[in-house]
Amino acid sequence: MSVNPFYQFRHEVLEPGTSRVAPGKALALAIDIIRGHVDPTMNLARLHASATGPDYASAIQRASEMLGVPARAPTTSVEGRGMAMVVSNQTRDIVVVHAGLAITLFEDHESWRVAWHTVHHELAHIHDNEYKYPLAATAPRLQGDDAVTFPLADALWSEYHAERRSSGDLASGPEMQLELLRDLLQANTKSSAKLIMMASGYALGALAGESKSLEAFDPATAAVVRASPLGGVWDRMISELDKLYASLSRWAGIWELADLMDLVGAVQGALPPECA
Ligand SMILES: [Zn+2]
Repeated sequence: MSVNPFYQFRHEVLEPGTSRVAPGKALALAIDIIRGHVDPTMNLARLHASATGPDYASAIQRASEMLGVPARAPTTSVEGRGMAMVVSNQTRDIVVVHAGLAITLFEDHESWRVAWHTVHHELAHIHDNEYKYPLAATAPRLQGDDAVTFPLADALWSEYHAERRSSGDLASGPEMQLELLRDLLQANTKSSAKLIMMASGYALGALAGESKSLEAFDPATAAVVRASPLGGVWDRMISELDKLYASLSRWAGIWELADLMDLVGAVQGALPPECA
């Protein structure tokens, strides 16, 4: 029996006349399967194209040129898994996936799960963008503390939403996300606030998606979190994120994130400054 339930479709994504998987075809078929069968209520109206290539940075460059936006640096392994990202302008998104990851979608070994979960996670960002972009376009310019806390709250929210939405059959449980958060908290400084928020989002989203509590699932990481600047706001983050998740399609403005901004502001304020 095959390890990967999607291995049966491998013949559909081969380079003509070879037994090699074509990464672009593999990615396109995976997106069709996810939007058609895995998560059919996801709103992907903004999805304009998918892109892949052996050179991940130049695939990002091409997608950015298509959308007329400056190319972002490729995501590292901490932010966005280093293998996939969404490039966005005001109205459209392109999902970019490293070819090395795209070909494992239809391989018959354990890595299929990471690949499918990653693609689903990125598509979930597009669902989120569908609601957030129109609200951000009409929002007043952020000033003062808000200019610091909004990007942190949005990073926390975005990764929470994408990870919670993509948990389930294609995901392998919250272990990896918790390990990442634990590592970051053990080296915490103000400069890593954004990464800590992203990692918190992954961990909280993965736990929520599987209806697990941190204490019950991983007492050692729970102790690290409770002793860190996240400890005092962790439970309030859980309930605030849960409320935001349930109401995303009805958000009236980006100020829906205001309570989350207060919570991340408290965390950021308690992180030690970077050592000189
Ligand atoms: Zn993400």
